[in-house]
Amino acid sequence: MERNLFNEEHELFRQSFRKFVEREVVPSQPRWNEQHMVDRETWRKAGEGGFLCPWLEPDHGGAGGDFVHSVIVNEELSRVYESGFAMTLHSDIVVPYIHEFGNDAQKKRWLPRCASGDIVTAIAMTEPGTGSDLASIATTARRDGDHYVINGAKTFISNGILCDLCIVAAKTDMNPDNAHRGISLFVVEAGTPGFTKGKKLEKMGMASQDTSELSFEDCRVPAENLLGEEGSGFVMLMQKLQQERLVVAIGAQANAEQVLADTIAYTQERKAFGKPISKFQNTKFKLAECATKVEVGRAFVDRLISEHVAGKHLVKECSMAKLWQTEMLGEVVDTCLQFFGGYGYMLEYPISRAYMDARVQRIFAGTNEIMKVIIAKQMGL
Ligand SMILES: Cc1cc2nc3c(=O)[nH]c(=O)nc-3n(C[C@H](O)[C@H](O)[C@H](O)COP(=O)(O)OP(=O)(O)OC[C@H]3O[C@@H](n4cnc5c(N)ncnc54)[C@H](O)[C@@H]3O)c2cc1C
Repeated sequence: MERNLFNEEHELFRQSFRKFVEREVVPSQPRWNEQHMVDRETWRKAGEGGFLCPWLEPDHGGAGGDFVHSVIVNEELSRVYESGFAMTLHSDIVVPYIHEFGNDAQKKRWLPRCASGDIVTAIAMTEPGTGSDLASIATTARRDGDHYVINGAKTFISNGILCDLCIVAAKTDMNPDNAHRGISLFVVEAGTPGFTKGKKLEKMGMASQDTSELSFEDCRVPAENLLGEEGSGFVMLMQKLQQERLVVAIGAQANAEQVLADTIAYTQERKAFGKPISKFQNTKFKLAECATKVEVGRAFVDRLISEHVAGKHLVKECSMAKLWQTEMLGEVVDTCLQFFGGYGYMLEYPISRAYMDARVQRIFAGTNEIMKVIIAKQMGL
């Protein structure tokens, strides 16, 4: 079905970003996958091209676009199976915290460099002892004069090694009765004494992503780096997680579409028993099922994007999309990989990476079980 999200300017942006991806991303992918990290320089080039935080107002150094520009970036990276260049995490998940909850001085200090690629961002919520149960984090931030002193450990942090700035969730009120109201968010800059980047974690997929542990040992952060009010961290996170889940759903949908397109092409080319494997009834039926799921998914995600851009409050629907789209991707990529036979298991075939990259999507940004908890709650259950 025809999509109606994009105007002429969006289409031009897509063409321009696609050229950037073909020039700067695709040739570097084998190296990035080996080094488990994207080149720092590519972030700067992405900033120069106006592809980071494309929705940010010119006053803050942005290109003045909207969330639909971010959708395009997400889709085009998915098209080439680039799962580690975390532009969407930076532009659409982390920077929006500073944009929405930062005061004028904080915005002036950080936003222009977030758009230029001079600052790469990360967000650190998860800890070795807790992920889903955010209220149980053990990292603390104790006020000491005009500083906060942060102590604790975070893990699985995307952009953990590359980040110049990390939004850290920490407890400012240790009273267990105030578990939710005790969380605050701090902007911690790389190089702050006591802030150490740990080891780059070896993962099943997302080969080009630097995911790492971070530790904070008597890390003194100026009080002016507190984001929003002390104790309002949980509320800020809950507000922003809607967009995070939508971003994951958009990527999963685009991944599934690309996997399907590549599989259709492969089955038309590969022959067995004297005919293309696309001619077997099993192939036709399985791919017809995949195409149906992908088409249904597209209708839901596009509708959600338009409503999100219009400013609607869609906690239930974004959680549903994160759940459904990532489960659908898992089913589609598993079915499709089978048609590649042994080649589907070889790393040189993008389908094998797509398969490994898909798995984590049901885990991060809130596990799919947590999505069901949220949906049920929104249903009044
Ligand atoms: C590649 C990668 C990148 C990541 N990037 C980041 C990042 O940048 N920043 C960040 O902060 N975190 C990041 N994470 C962490 C991720 O968000 C967490 O792994 C996730 O939220 C789950 O937390 P956990 O691993 O502690 O699992 P747990 O919370 O221990 O959950 C274990 C299992 O129990 C289930 N479970 C838990 N509670 C319930 C419940 N109430 N009902 C039913 N089932 C339940 C879960 O669904 C899961 O199946 C990343 C993780 C990965 C793998």
